[in-house]
Amino acid sequence: MDETQPANLTTENMPSISGNEIHSRLYDHLPVAVYTCNRLGYITFFNKAAERLWGRTPEIGRDLWCGSWKIYTTEGIPISLDNCPMAVALKKGIPLEGEQIIIERPDGVRVKVRPYPVPVFDDHGELTGAVNTLIDVTELVDNEGKQAVLAAIVNTSDDAIISKTLQGNIISWNRGAEQIFGYTEAEVLGKHISILIPENRLQEEDVIIGRIAQGKKVDHFETIRLTKAGREIPVSLSVSPIMDRSGKIIGASKIARDISVQKSAQEAAERHIKNLRTINAMAKMVSEELNLKQLLQKVTDATTQLIGAAYGVFFYKAVDTAGESSVLYSLSGVPVPAVKKLDLPVSMEFLQDIFPDETVVRINDITKIVPNGRNASYYDMLSGQLQIASYLAVPVADRLGTIVGGLLFGHPDAGVFTKEHEMMVTAIASHAAIGIDNARLYEEVKALNEKKNEFIGLASHELKTPLTSISGYLQILERQNTDVLGKNFMSKAMQQIRKLTALISDLLDVSKIEAGKLRLSKERFDIRSLLEDTIDLVQYTQNSHKITLDTTVEKTILYADAQRIEQVVVNLLTNAIKYAPAATHITVLLERQDQEVKVGVKDAGPGIAPDQLSLIFSRFYRVENSNATVSGLGIGLYLSHEIIERHQGRIWVESELGKGSTFWFALPA
Ligand code: ADP
Repeated sequence: MDETQPANLTTENMPSISGNEIHSRLYDHLPVAVYTCNRLGYITFFNKAAERLWGRTPEIGRDLWCGSWKIYTTEGIPISLDNCPMAVALKKGIPLEGEQIIIERPDGVRVKVRPYPVPVFDDHGELTGAVNTLIDVTELVDNEGKQAVLAAIVNTSDDAIISKTLQGNIISWNRGAEQIFGYTEAEVLGKHISILIPENRLQEEDVIIGRIAQGKKVDHFETIRLTKAGREIPVSLSVSPIMDRSGKIIGASKIARDISVQKSAQEAAERHIKNLRTINAMAKMVSEELNLKQLLQKVTDATTQLIGAAYGVFFYKAVDTAGESSVLYSLSGVPVPAVKKLDLPVSMEFLQDIFPDETVVRINDITKIVPNGRNASYYDMLSGQLQIASYLAVPVADRLGTIVGGLLFGHPDAGVFTKEHEMMVTAIASHAAIGIDNARLYEEVKALNEKKNEFIGLASHELKTPLTSISGYLQILERQNTDVLGKNFMSKAMQQIRKLTALISDLLDVSKIEAGKLRLSKERFDIRSLLEDTIDLVQYTQNSHKITLDTTVEKTILYADAQRIEQVVVNLLTNAIKYAPAATHITVLLERQDQEVKVGVKDAGPGIAPDQLSLIFSRFYRVENSNATVSGLGIGLYLSHEIIERHQGRIWVESELGKGSTFWFALPA
């Protein structure tokens, strides 16, 4: 191979190394793996690059065909070394053209290689061996693979993936972009990105490009973009800078996601929440309103407004306690002259006409409907007088499911009422039905209560008259009767009469309170002397308990109804005696605190359970069991409470079971 020597080299200045050595050094510096085999396939030479590629050092004259440890096809199928490309080239005597194989090194690392084995022949055409060049294509192939994967991702993405220059000209456009924006790649390449931006948002692009130029990203920016058809769609944009190898920003890649579905789902959810809130608010209002007429009006007004109806009518079949039924109705948005002209139904048969199938009726345009027997009523009821097109009628059913009324709405424009309106009004109507029932029951109870109060007032009045005469006659008899036993009986009878009189006057007071007729006649008096007198009075008739006044307070003037305050103290003392029969002592307390005077009646009786403390001041309330033997009507504390409250005072009890109770009241000083 003398031809490889430079022409100007002479024998004198030639380095003192052999030609073979020169070749081997030359090959060792080659970045490409090269090796040779003799005719029989034994390796005769390999360079450093080949050694590196194989990851091992073959033995000259011993290793056959190839220095690899193991080789595979690109699919990973093992190839025996005597079938390796070098072996094939030698055996067939033909060069092979770099079909890729995989070499596995002893350390397990695999490299992708293209081999170029070329057989060598002597001057006589005899095969003498072969040279193989191995090109490491690992990086190239891997990069290609990555590119292919990326391209596949970009291509199959539902998001629009677009790249553009810093000037905004489109340089790539994927299938997702085509689907979202409607332009094909050919239509937009080179065009300015502003074709996708609505006019009033053009300045957004400057802001985005401004950020990109500074190397910053734009993340999930929600905005509106234009499709080819000119339709505006909500999108979420993420834009990142594209850099060249030197890190210079040369453009931007942009991912646009069509968020129409999310947006409309979000809007639907928000609407739904709003509707629920409305229904809730309505339900609350309905449950709080106990006045039937006002309830109907509120529901009519609110639902009419809620669904944007021009007119709303609420019909309701009312049945009074005598079983007489009549039709109540309330109107919203209906002008007064129209009300006069409206042919409002007087009986409830019309409900069958309005709700022939007992369900909601919603019609986009009733003017387009040919009247027939089944739809005649709603057709002429509202349309004639009020010129309506959109019509919605929602039945209102009672607890048993019987339709007892209906909410009717109208609007002069067609197609105003939606399924959503229908659902909302239906929900509200079912609440309204309960509310109406409650209001009706409440009105019935109120009427009955009034009757009962009337009766208590009347009865106590009627009882009082004969009692007064009896007591008069008894007093006369008592004076005339000198017999000791007789006198004793008379006095017992008088005592019972006094009890009866007290009960009756309590009952009378109750009916006065209920009728709002309990009058206070206020005067100035000293509370301390009132307490002393009252204690004396009670002590005079009751000597089972010792009652003492425990106070440091001197004369204290109050402006109040002295008789009523005395009534309260007597009540509390009588209770203390009644409910603490085993105790011997009752203490009356008088305290002065800031602007208040506090009076307490303390007993050492059985006490009251905590859960009863707030109840005992209610009308006719008595604690069960504990006082089965003690008679009473449960009105003493109720009256006391009312009297004290009417004085802008407070009344309460402190009690512990087994230890006794202290009833307190406080009055402004
Ligand atoms: P009445 O005494 O007619 O039952 P009240 O309104 O005076 O009605 O009292 C209501 C209830 O409070 C009584 O039934 C009783 O159970 C309870 N009560 C009142 N005072 C006392 C007390 N001093 N000790 C225990 N329980 C009491």
